[in-house]
Formats: sequence, C-alpha cells, structure tokens
Amino acid sequence: MKIFCVANQKGGVGKTTTTVNLAAGLAKVGQRVLLVDLDPQGNATMGSGVDKRALQPSVYDVLLESASITDAVVVPERLKEAHASYAVVGANRDLAGAEIELVGEERRERRLREALAQVQGDYDFVLIDCPPSLGLLTLNGLCAAQGVIVPMQCEYFALEGLADLVNTIKQVHANLNRDLQLIGLLRVMFDPRITLQQQVSEQLKAHYGAKVFDTIIPRNVRLAEAPSFGLPGVVFDPAAKGSKAFIEFAREIVERGLRR
Ligand code: ADP
Ligand code: MG
Repeated sequence: MKIFCVANQKGGVGKTTTTVNLAAGLAKVGQRVLLVDLDPQGNATMGSGVDKRALQPSVYDVLLESASITDAVVVPERLKEAHASYAVVGANRDLAGAEIELVGEERRERRLREALAQVQGDYDFVLIDCPPSLGLLTLNGLCAAQGVIVPMQCEYFALEGLADLVNTIKQVHANLNRDLQLIGLLRVMFDPRITLQQQVSEQLKAHYGAKVFDTIIPRNVRLAEAPSFGLPGVVFDPAAKGSKAFIEFAREIVERGLRR
C-alpha cells in the first residue's frame, strides 16, 4: 500500500485538483484507491461527490479517535457508475478545530498514520489532500506517508516556497518518519505559450532532475468546471486534455511504484 501526500503550503496551486484526478485516474487503470481529505475546506470531499455537511463520521473523528477509519470511509455512487470508483474519508469545517484540540494530546502527529495501519492492504494507493499550511494537519499527512507529491505552477515565487517545503520534508524524515521522501514535482496549470513558465520549468529540471515528473498538466478549464458537478475532471470529461494528462500521470505513478 503506497501512501502519498499531495502537499504545498501555498493555496490555489492545484493540490485538490491533483488529488481527486489522480485518485480517479488510478482507479480507472485498475488500482484500489483511498482518498483522505485533510483540508477543513472539504474541497476534495465535495469534488469526489460526497456531501461534506452529511459526513458521519469524518476525518476529524478519526484524528480525535472517536471513530475508526473504516467507519468514516464512503464510496461515492457516481464514481462507481463511471468505473472510476475510489473510497473517500471526507473532511469539513469540524477539522479546523482539530489542529487546536490535538495540541495537548499524545501521539498527535501520528493519528492518521495509526488509523491507516487499520486498512493496511485494503488499498493499492492512499492519497492525502493536505491543507495550504505546514501545521499539525499536514504533519499528520507527512507522518503517515511514504511519499510527497508536490503540484506547482511554474511561476517565479514557486521555487522559493519549494525550498521551505523540501526543508519540512527533510525534518520530518529525520525526526518523525524515516520512510518519507519527495516523490516528485508535478507541473500543473501549465501554459507553454508563456515564456516565464518554460523558463521556470527548465530551472526545476536543472535543480531537481528526476524528481520532476515527466507528465505536465496543462491549464484546462474543464478541470476547473468539474468540481461544481461533484466529479473529478477525468470522470466529468475524460476527453479533455487536462483529463488525459491526469490519466497519463496515474500511469506514471504506477510505473514509478513498480520500479521501486
Ligand atoms: P489547492 O487545493 O492547492 O488550493 P485547487 O486544486 O483547488 O488548489 O486549484 C485552485 C483553482 O485552480 C481551482 O479553482 C481549480 O479548479 C483550478 N485549477 C486547478 N488545476 C487547474 C488546471 N490544470 N487548469 C485550470 N484550472 C485549474
Ligand atoms: Mg485544496
């Protein structure tokens, strides 16, 4: 069971879009997938077709240990119909309180790791959608995972933010989770007509080499429209070029896993 965090402390960089579309893409190529939403905004939950207001229980209860992870798993009906079925542990605003409520608790950064141990072997991939910060929620994701996938836009300041994230990953690796590594940087919302984006993309490859995924996700409005229908883009419009890119990315992830 591969556990990957989708993380970047910046908001609006494509974490949730990456998580839901990779989950659906992996499901489409025959993988058993669990998506865990760790963002109180609950966008990955809604974007998978699960009503965040109706969660009973949610990931909040799992972290606070008032429910088991198996009780929190939901499998959205519409994803089943589309043959892109994956399981979801959803989040909503309750989760915002967890960051504070967990402060005084023991093993506070290991709650998700321990919960996922209970479903060990039930899935091929677990994908964790992180909030836009490096707080206790993201820390739970990083402690639970073997790898981090970092979606990023090829803009000038993207490289600066990346250094902080890479540092955090190193610290978690050194102090809390020996298994953790940076799997790769995913270039998203890419527009090849913009010279700066091409330049930053080249810089990324120069600095991070093989850590940059081959697949590039283009800017594509269909990916942005899909969440309002409660579906990942790859299910909502499989023919769109953004959706095709995510299917390609799912294949790249599976291949990388096999090579290891
Ligand atoms: P994050 O989870 O990092 O905050 P999101 O995945 O929610 O970021 O993406 C931020 C916004 O950009 C959303 O409105 C989303 O629909 C849009 N978006 C993400 N990826 C793409 C893309 N490849 N093309 C066009 N719009 C995108
Ligand atoms: Mg998000």
